Amino acid sequence: MIWNPVEKISRSEMEALQLSRLQQTVARVWENVPFYRNKMETLGVRPEHIKSVKDVSLLPLTVKNDLRDNYPYGLFASPQRSIVRFHASSGTTGKPIVVGYTRNDMEVWTDCCARVASAAGIGQDDICQIAFGYGMFTGGFGMHYGIERVGATVVPASSGNSERQLMFMQDFGTTGLVATPSYILHLTEVMKEMGISPDDLKLRVGLFGGEGHTSEMRELIEKRLGIIDTQNYGMTELCGPGVSYECLENSGMHINEDHFLPEIIDPETGEVLPEGAQGELVFTTLTKEGIPMIRYRTKDISQLNYEPCACGRTNVRMSLVRGRSDDMMVIRGVNVFPSQIEAVLMTVCGIGPHYQIIVTTEHFMDRLEIRVELTDGERLESYAGLESLIKEIRQKLRVVLQIDARVTLLNPQTLERTAGKSKRVINKRDKCF
Ligand code: ZN
Repeated sequence: MIWNPVEKISRSEMEALQLSRLQQTVARVWENVPFYRNKMETLGVRPEHIKSVKDVSLLPLTVKNDLRDNYPYGLFASPQRSIVRFHASSGTTGKPIVVGYTRNDMEVWTDCCARVASAAGIGQDDICQIAFGYGMFTGGFGMHYGIERVGATVVPASSGNSERQLMFMQDFGTTGLVATPSYILHLTEVMKEMGISPDDLKLRVGLFGGEGHTSEMRELIEKRLGIIDTQNYGMTELCGPGVSYECLENSGMHINEDHFLPEIIDPETGEVLPEGAQGELVFTTLTKEGIPMIRYRTKDISQLNYEPCACGRTNVRMSLVRGRSDDMMVIRGVNVFPSQIEAVLMTVCGIGPHYQIIVTTEHFMDRLEIRVELTDGERLESYAGLESLIKEIRQKLRVVLQIDARVTLLNPQTLERTAGKSKRVINKRDKCF
């Protein structure tokens, strides 16, 4: 179901809406955020220079460090008395980043997440369990409001405690699950241990987000659980979940472009790339009052498709995220994304979906090691079987990556599982990449 009629307006209507909102946003930050005003003045840009949507490219780019450097309130465009909520990112180093929402920001966020839920086919007859963390993390709350808005029943289970998650799923008859894709794969393993088969559950649809998700991973989820797999995308800096979402066509994620104006840039030069090109996604928020973002560099690699979708929506679609520009490893001169390695591993029988990539330096050369779990520990007893499996993985990796990798097979359940983003790449090289 199409939740909001704005999801199917014509391109010219959308651009007119985007332009007036962009002009308002630029005027707002010019007046209220010295950080943006200073950067604009350095570039010689004033609010009146924004005459078309494309003029967004005149504005300065913003990066995550700008949020950290201005911690906590430096980028806020509204006074504290208008802010009704704070959220923060799960920073791994130093201070987190803090974002603030006005009452209107909360309303927009709820509507954006309602679009996510209804595009995934969630409605009043559904019972939706949220296995995203609540607290300062945006994931739990955002999806909570959106799912409640479309009239479904919310089970705010929060993250972790898989046995309890599965108990709720069985007892309440959960039909929809909000989680990270790696967590649902972890749940399928716990189900196996607990002797729960997919037929014991009423689970029908997954709303996955919070980390990258390859089409091979999707096939695995569908195979193991027989559910519809939909992905959605967002980040704390922009609002949390609700930036873009898949419809049941599974052909890219529709961007809520009446609120988030996308561009694709060359991650090296910052130049805007032509329509359809692959590059780094950049978003400008069009309605945010608390903390507007001007040309925020997401570091996510994607591409945009403006063709109308078979579902009837006209809002632009972004491809599933291909990797992060800062995850991109240059190994012996070759660009490698962890998502490419993941895609290869998914095509090999006998190994699990959990893996680790370790990059080291050996005799001044980069060395790539892939650690992956066997699905069946007994396989470790057959040397010949292991050898042929390793050979198969290495050959497939060589075709895709053009480089050789060392492959280590591990016992099932050896690698650490997390409910949030998994740490898959470990860099032990002497130099930075
Ligand atoms: Zn669609």
